[in-house]
Amino acid sequence: MRLILIGPPGVGKGTQAAMLEARLGVRPLSSGVIFRAEIDADTDLGRLANSYIKRGELVPNGVTIEMMGKRIRSEEVRKQGFVLDGFPRTVRQAEALDAMLEEMNMPLDKAVSIEVTDEVLLQRLSGRMGCTKCGEIYHSITKPPKREGICDKCNSPLFVRSDDLPETIRERLRVFQENTTPVREHYRAKGMLFVVNGADEPEDVYSQIVNGAKG
Ligand code: AMP
Repeated sequence: MRLILIGPPGVGKGTQAAMLEARLGVRPLSSGVIFRAEIDADTDLGRLANSYIKRGELVPNGVTIEMMGKRIRSEEVRKQGFVLDGFPRTVRQAEALDAMLEEMNMPLDKAVSIEVTDEVLLQRLSGRMGCTKCGEIYHSITKPPKREGICDKCNSPLFVRSDDLPETIRERLRVFQENTTPVREHYRAKGMLFVVNGADEPEDVYSQIVNGAKG
């Protein structure tokens, strides 16, 4: 399966990508997760990316395309398929991805647009926490951990992303509307887009995605 998940921050792309991996063995490739790993490892790319990420701005297209291209071309991804989360975020990135997949003779199955209102997003993002070790996602209201600040699954400490602060969240939503709405339209024009309701329960969203990907 080769899918793109398109949707604003907090809509549940990461949750759905993890479900697709656990149940179907599809490889999740999240540009945000990869950038954060580069930042933690203090690489040149990580330092460059962080200067944009901490302001809620997009990392420039050139480095982003190169970074994702390397992963998409890897042997594992060729075999297992992929679910892209957070990439492509601009039309330039979408065009680069389309060209790369055509050259590799690996057509995309579908682009999935996960949609919800801004109010729901603000509420979800402002309580979000993640595990530093296994990546499990929690929420202070809808999915609190059993012990405060500790992961239920692996007992590691939880963290709040520095870009999940209210001012940065607003900027990320604005940047999403401006850059990524045209990406959705790009795939709609190609007849590859389908829309799912991100306000539904994760299991329902998952079924909508898997059924839509077949169609
Ligand atoms: P995310 O985890 O997808 O919300 O990404 C966190 C941040 O990483 C974004 O706010 C951007 O600054 C940066 N980022 C992630 N993916 C991309 C992308 N495809 N293009 C440019 N910047 C990105």
